[in-house]
Amino acid sequence: MKKFLFASSVLLNLAAAAQTFDIVPLGVYGGEREDNLSSYLISQYQKNEFLALDAGTINAGIRKAIALKTFDVEEEKVLRDYIKGYFISHGHLDHLSGLVINSPADSKKNIYAIPFVQDILVNYYFSKDTWVNFTDKGNNPIGKYQLIPLQLGAEHQVTGTGLSIKAFELSHTKDYKSSAVLVGSHDDYILYLGDTGADRIENSKNLEILWKSIAPLIKNKQLKAIMIEVSFPNSQPENLLFGHLTPNLLQEEFIKLSAFAGQENLKGLKIIITHIKPSGKNPEIIKQELQQNNPLQLQYIYPVQGSLLSF
Ligand SMILES: [Zn+2]
Ligand SMILES: [Zn+2]
Repeated sequence: MKKFLFASSVLLNLAAAAQTFDIVPLGVYGGEREDNLSSYLISQYQKNEFLALDAGTINAGIRKAIALKTFDVEEEKVLRDYIKGYFISHGHLDHLSGLVINSPADSKKNIYAIPFVQDILVNYYFSKDTWVNFTDKGNNPIGKYQLIPLQLGAEHQVTGTGLSIKAFELSHTKDYKSSAVLVGSHDDYILYLGDTGADRIENSKNLEILWKSIAPLIKNKQLKAIMIEVSFPNSQPENLLFGHLTPNLLQEEFIKLSAFAGQENLKGLKIIITHIKPSGKNPEIIKQELQQNNPLQLQYIYPVQGSLLSF
């Protein structure tokens, strides 16, 4: 009996040690649901020191997480103390309106973004005319948020979290830049992509560059998950994608990734599907289409607002 208890506690410890990241989705949709738009908190496992990956919905997501007992503190504590900084992938409202609206109640922290996105934040949102400029750049800055420019491919430390991030450029319709970040903790990684079109449609090589650079991490089993958008079902015409992916286009891109990383290494890889446009029966249709055409045997995960995911 004693031996059994010892063995099972070792197993439990091993299982616990295998987790590196906590992710708390604060918002999961790509439109319409203003109380549930793209934002994912990521922390080292059980540390509650989060970087927000986009910030479409903040307060409504925190309240949902508290209701689901993901957090056992007041919403103010999550906003001010648990969230240590923001990564904003691109300048669209569904990825940052929660940050803007909650800024008066927020505490001092950093916003990480590529320069293209920083300029949009300062010129159009924290512009003094549309909202008080809580950043440290631009028109009449108050300086609550320090804007940290991300250089493509360079590793940046995220203050207060123990996480590192490395940014990559994405194409989200012609000339409109979005971005991805590779989030690292020790030797493990999660890749988060903001909105993106497929290289073929966008006439771009951004995803190919990204796939090449993460392929070694997949081969070494260091990539715990990829968070990527699928906005529309396959029926969406290619000329009306507005810089987004469908299940078929996701397959097209992952087949390219498998050429760099080895098809056998993608089997069972965890893919967190983000940014589904919720109109009509889109969510059900997208899930069905992903499941029906899955030659690489990827493991799809559909995040739920407020519900903890650990990897
Ligand atoms: Zn979006
Ligand atoms: Zn967008």
